[in-house]
This record gives sequence, structure tokens and C-alpha cells, in this order.
Amino acid sequence: MARKIGSRYAAHQILGRGSAGTVWLGEGPEGPVAIKLLREDLASDEELVGRFVQERTALLGLEHPHVVSVRDLVVDGNDLALVMDLVRGTDLRTRLDRERRLAPEAAVAIVADVAEGLAAAHAAGVVHRDVKPENVLLDMQGPLGPGGAHPALLTDFGVAKLIDSPKRTRATKIIGTPDYLAPEIVEGLPPRAAVDIYALATVLYELLAGFTPFGGGHPGAVLRRHVTETVVPLPGIPEELWQLMVQCLAKAPASRLRATELAARLREQLPMLAGMPPLDVDEPDAEPGEAPMDEAGEPAASTGERAVRRRGAVPLVPGAKPDSNRDTHTSMRVPGPDELAGGARGTARAPRAAGAPRPGSARHRASARRRRVTLGTAAVVLVAAVGVGTWWATAGDDTGTTPQDTKHSAPQTP
Ligand code: ADP
Repeated sequence: MARKIGSRYAAHQILGRGSAGTVWLGEGPEGPVAIKLLREDLASDEELVGRFVQERTALLGLEHPHVVSVRDLVVDGNDLALVMDLVRGTDLRTRLDRERRLAPEAAVAIVADVAEGLAAAHAAGVVHRDVKPENVLLDMQGPLGPGGAHPALLTDFGVAKLIDSPKRTRATKIIGTPDYLAPEIVEGLPPRAAVDIYALATVLYELLAGFTPFGGGHPGAVLRRHVTETVVPLPGIPEELWQLMVQCLAKAPASRLRATELAARLREQLPMLAGMPPLDVDEPDAEPGEAPMDEAGEPAASTGERAVRRRGAVPLVPGAKPDSNRDTHTSMRVPGPDELAGGARGTARAPRAAGAPRPGSARHRASARRRRVTLGTAAVVLVAAVGVGTWWATAGDDTGTTPQDTKHSAPQTP
């Protein structure tokens, strides 16, 4: 039996359930639609209502073949519903759960579609902020693309943000799914378009590997890995594709590609990936001493087959190899104006090594004195050694030069 939504729509059958409500197959004046209905018990939740309105606002005027368009927002008594274009198919998470890993060609074709959708959103000033397989719909009625992939559409702009909205300077809490969160968000910087690129590169990695690069275990550990760990290469992945992923997973947002460029570069790679089978990748082992966690972040009852995934070493201890400055923004320090001008507080300089004395401190002056004494001693020893060495070398030849003469050929002390 149909359920009426406002005066113009009817909901017929459930298509899927989301975090805040149910998505229905519906009918509107212009034909079939998808209707996302906010759960009644959540109608008084201001934040969730805000998300519905936000999704409508973010997508106003955004029409793109790889973005699910929102057509209407219906407020009717206790009902709050978002009317969207209907996508007949499944979401990418369902496909990934079924197939575990996708062939590179299909994975890249899907991600290139999403990158194009993102490019349109970014051009309209919208950052999605929650790019993940659950929010990518595959249109099974659309034409088959490379690798047999159906067209992919980006959906769920519920937490999207206008890039230049005045709210951006306000302190905001972290929003997004830990596995896909860009390091700059973990560090409290405002989300820019580059966060979507990082999340999308994470999705690509997941489609190819069957697991995300930094996921697994406690959410806090996942967030830390985004900031501190480097991505582990996937065996058998073509080098060019890998380089593209590494660039989009760069810790520094400015190092990542823009959505348009990412889409174009991915499409360029499609011919080379044709016919390639899914990668043969082993899921990383559990980190020693780390208990597997369930979805809620609690230790899981059994260590089952979905053990905690371990990534590369965690470079948080002294002596570990740090990220290069190019790869991470965490070691970057912006010099103050007086430093740049060479003012009273000195000139711009490289960050101090851990444990090194602060310039100008008593410890620094003492160590400088020690260095001068050591250098002086070294210079005397060097002069003496060169003198003796030269004397020895020349004394042994047949030029008849006396050792005393050679004294003058020794280098002058500065
Ligand atoms: P939420 O934002 O509440 O988490 P989603 O937007 O993720 O909800 O939708 C939940 C599910 O409903 C999706 O996984 C998908 O299966 C289905 N769905 C969502 N939007 C559409 C759509 N436009 N057309 C068809 N099915 C959809």
C-alpha cells in the first residue's frame, strides 16, 4: 500500500535503509523517484533535520550525470522527506561486500565517475565530506562502461559544506567516517575540496585491495594512522596507477590532485588496465597486542577472519624515520612576519631537531663554546697532521727539499 508524502508524492517500497531514515521507491508528478524519509523518532533531532535541509541546499542547482540530484524537500506534519532522482541499482559497498575486490579497470572506471561528480560539486563550491562506498550508487540500468562497470553516482550530501560559507571559521567537530578522513581534518583544519580527493583515493585503494589503507581497530588508532603512517604499496598494481593514488593520499592537501585532473588521469589509465584480474592481495595481519574491534569500537568477541589490519610502522617513537616535508604538513611551521623580515627574533629557519637547545639559550651558548673549542683543537691537529704528512711525502722524494722547507706548504690556519 502506498504511503502519501506531502501532496505530490507516494512511497511504494523500501529501497534501502540509511543512518537517519528509509529510502523508498516512490512516484511523483514526473515519474519514479527515490524518497528519503527521516525516521519519525528522529524528527525532533535538530542536527538530523539540519542535514536534510543541508543536503537540499548543497545540491541546489547542481545537475551532473555522476551526482544524484535532489528534486524536492517535503515537510508534511511529522514527515520530512528528500525527493531524489531514482537510481536503479545498488550501492558500491554492497558490490564490494559481494566481490571483495574489483578488477582494476572496473574500480578505476567507477572512481573516475565519482571524481567527475566531485569536480562538479567542487566547482559549485560544495565539499562532500563523506565520500565512501556507501555513498556511491551504481546505476544498473545505465550503459556498461570499461571493465563492465555501470555508471557511478555520488549521493548523500547530508554533511556537505559550502567551501566559502562563513561558518567555516567556527570550530567544528570531526565529521566523516574514520577510514576515509583526511589527515588535515584530524588536525582540526577546515575541510577543503582536497579532503574529498583523499577519501576517494581511499575508496580506490579499498576497491583494489579489499581493505582501506589506514582502517582497522579503534577509531582513535585509525585517525592517528592517517596523520602518521605512509600507505603500504599494493603488490601487482601498475606503477602509474600507484603513483596517482600515492599523490591523492598525500598528507599535505596541496599535494593532491584536483578532481577534474584525477578523473582525466584515471581515464587515461583505463586502456592499460583492460582485462587485468583483481589484485592478489593478502589482508594485513593483526598488530601484535592489538585486539580486534567491532563496529562500535569495542574489542570483538572473537579474532575471526576479519582480524585487525596492520599497516606499516607507526613512526611516533624517537629514532623512527619521519615523513618527508613534502609528504606531510605536520612538520611544517609557518614563520612569523618578523622571522621572515630577519627581525629581533631571528630569521626563518628549519625546525629544531628534537632535543637540540633553543638558539640563544644558556645551553645553546655553552654548546656553541664547546663546538668552538673542539673545532679549534681539530684545526690544530689537522694543520699538524698535514704538515707531518707533507714532510713525510716530500722527504721521501729526490728533489732535495728539506723538511724545513715543506713547513711553508702547509695550509694557513684561518
Ligand atoms: P543515509 O544518508 O540516511 O545513510 P543513504 O543516502 O546512504 O541514507 O541511503 C541508504 C540506501 O538507500 C542506499 O545505500 C541505497 O541502497 C538506497 N538509496 C539511496 N538513495 C537512493 C537513490 N537515489 N536511488 C535508489 N536507491 C537509493
